Amino acid sequence: MSVDVVRRGRLAAVLGLLLGMVVALVWAVPAAGQPRHRPAPAPPKAATATGYGGAVATLDPYATQAGLDILARGGNAVDAAVAASAMLGVTRPYDGSIGGGGFFVIYSAKDRKVTTIDARETAPAAATPSRFVDPVTKAPLAFPDARVSGLSVGVPGLVRGWELALEEYGSKPLRKLLEPAREVAEGGFVVDAEFERRTAQNLAIFQDFTSTAETFLVDGAAPEPGSVLRNEDLADTYEFLGRKGADAFYEGELAQAIVDAVTTPPVVRDAAGEPVRAVRRGDMTVTDLAAYEALWRKPTMVDYRGNKVFGMGPPSSGGTTTGEVLNILEGFAVADLPEEEVLHLLIEAEALAWADRNAYVGDPGFVDVPVAGLLSEEFAATRRALIGPRAAVKPVAPGNPRAFGTGSEALIVPAAAAGEGSTTHVTVADKFGNVVSLTFSIEQIGGSGITVPGYGFLLNNQLTDFSFDPANADDPNLPDAGKRPRSSMSPTIVLDDRGRPLTAFGSPGGPRIIGTVLHLAINQLDRGMTLPEAIAAPRLMNQNSPDTFYEPGIPIEALARRGHAFTLMNPIGNATGVRFLEHKVLQAAAEPVRADGGSAGVVRPVRR
Ligand code: GLU
Repeated sequence: MSVDVVRRGRLAAVLGLLLGMVVALVWAVPAAGQPRHRPAPAPPKAATATGYGGAVATLDPYATQAGLDILARGGNAVDAAVAASAMLGVTRPYDGSIGGGGFFVIYSAKDRKVTTIDARETAPAAATPSRFVDPVTKAPLAFPDARVSGLSVGVPGLVRGWELALEEYGSKPLRKLLEPAREVAEGGFVVDAEFERRTAQNLAIFQDFTSTAETFLVDGAAPEPGSVLRNEDLADTYEFLGRKGADAFYEGELAQAIVDAVTTPPVVRDAAGEPVRAVRRGDMTVTDLAAYEALWRKPTMVDYRGNKVFGMGPPSSGGTTTGEVLNILEGFAVADLPEEEVLHLLIEAEALAWADRNAYVGDPGFVDVPVAGLLSEEFAATRRALIGPRAAVKPVAPGNPRAFGTGSEALIVPAAAAGEGSTTHVTVADKFGNVVSLTFSIEQIGGSGITVPGYGFLLNNQLTDFSFDPANADDPNLPDAGKRPRSSMSPTIVLDDRGRPLTAFGSPGGPRIIGTVLHLAINQLDRGMTLPEAIAAPRLMNQNSPDTFYEPGIPIEALARRGHAFTLMNPIGNATGVRFLEHKVLQAAAEPVRADGGSAGVVRPVRR
C-alpha cells in the first residue's frame, strides 16, 4: 500500500468519523418512547486476524470489537478484557456474565510476571456436604433438578474479579469499560443463529421463569436470527455498577435482588396460582454476598519443551491437570511421532491425570491440594511409567503426588505482593506487552435459568460442579460453607525460553476444556502448527473412562486397534487465543467452524 493511499484512507476515515458523529448526535435525541440508541449492527466476524497494536479473540464479534475499541483508545489488556467480558454478558448471556464467576491469568509486561485471579463462585454459609442430597429419598438429586434451582447458585465472583484486576493493572475506570456493553444492551444487538440455537435448547426452562422469559424470549419463543434483542435491565445494571463500583453488586438493592431470586425463584404460575415447575429454593443471604472475595493466587507452571506454561491453580483443576499431562508427555518425542501414537499417549496421560484430579483437587481453602506433587516431574515419571503400547483398562487409579512435594503452590498471595509481581474465553494482548487469558462462566448454557428480576442477567448454577454424594467423605470436592466448587477452566499463557509471551489461549467446554487446551498446547509446541491450525484441528478427551470423547477427524479406527473405545462429541470446546509472532506481529484466532465460529481482531492490520 502506498503512502498516498494510506493518507487518502485516513482522510476518508476522518470524514466518515465526522459523518458518524453527526448521525450519532441526531440519533441521540430520543423520540418519545423510543430507545435512546439504535441497534448496533453486528461487527464483521473473522476467525483469524494478524497485525499490530493489540489483539482480541472471543466467541462473539461485538465482544471482540469492544475489546479492540478500548485498546485503540489506549487501554491495556486488562481494560480490554473487562470491556469484552461485559459485552459477552450482553450478547452471549447464557455462557458467562456478572451472574457467574471465572479465572483470570494475567501477564504483566512491566513486572515480567504471571499472576492469577480466582473469581470463582462460593457456596453460601448454609451449605453442607449433603447440599445436593434429596431430604426425602436421601439419594443425590438428579442433575436437572439441582441445576434449575436456587441451591445451585453460587455467590457470583466476576464483578469482584474485574475490580481486583483493574485495581492492580487497569488504566481506565470501570464505568468507561462497561459503557460499550451498556450501549449495546440498551440499543440492542443482532441475534445470530448460535444465540437462537442456545435459547431454543433451554426454552422449556426459560419459559418457566417470569424474568427469564421477559428478558430473553420474544412472545415465549427464541428470538429469530436477524432480529434485534435489547436488555434495558442489564443496561441499567451496568450503568449502576459503573457509577457505584463493584461494592454495589455485593451490598444494597442489587445484592438483595440476587438473594430474593435465589430464595424465591420467580417461577411462572398457572391459572390456579400454582408454580408451573417445582424449583428448590436456595439459601444465599446478603451476608454471603457481602463476604465474597476474589483472590490473587499463584499460577501453576510447568516447563514444557523449554517454554513455561502458566495456568490456573485450585480451585480450578485446569492448571494442575494440563500441567501433569504435559509433564507426562515431555518424556516422549511427541514432535517426531505419528499422529496416532501422539493421540494414544494423550489419552493415556489424560486418564492418569484425571484420576489424580478427582482424588486430590478441590478448594485449597478447605482441602490440602498437593499442587507441588501434582506438578512435579518425578511424580509425572511414575505416571508415565504406567503407559504401555495399548490402552489401559479405565478407570485407572490415582497416584500418590504427596510423596513428591506437599506444598500447596496455590497459596493465596496478598494483592500487594502480586503487584510486584459458561463459560466463555477472552484472550487479549496489548501494545504494551500485557496478556490476559480469562475464562468465565455461569456453568450450564443459561446457568440456573433464573434471571434476577429487573437486573437482566442470569444466575449461575456453578455449585453443581461440586460432587453430589457425601458418601465418599474423602472426596475433595464436596460442598461446604463458603467453599468454591472445583473447576476445569484452564486459561493459559505460555512464555518462551526467554520469558517472552509466546501464545495464550483457553476455551469453554466443561471438563473437556482440559483436553481442548492440551490440544492447543501440543499442536503449537510440538506439532509445529500455527495458532489457527491448532484451533481448527480435531480434538479428543479422556476423563478416565473406558470411552474417549472425540470429534470427527480423529483416526479412531487406528486407535481402536490399540484397545481404545470412543464416543462422538461434537464439538469439543470453543477456543480463542493469541500468538506472538516475530517482529511484534500479533495473531488473534478463534474457531473457524465450531459453534458457528468465533471472532478475532487486531487493532491495526498494518504497521504504522
Ligand atoms: N462449570 C465448568 C467449570 O467450571 C465450566 C462449564 C463449561 O465450560 O461449560 O469447569
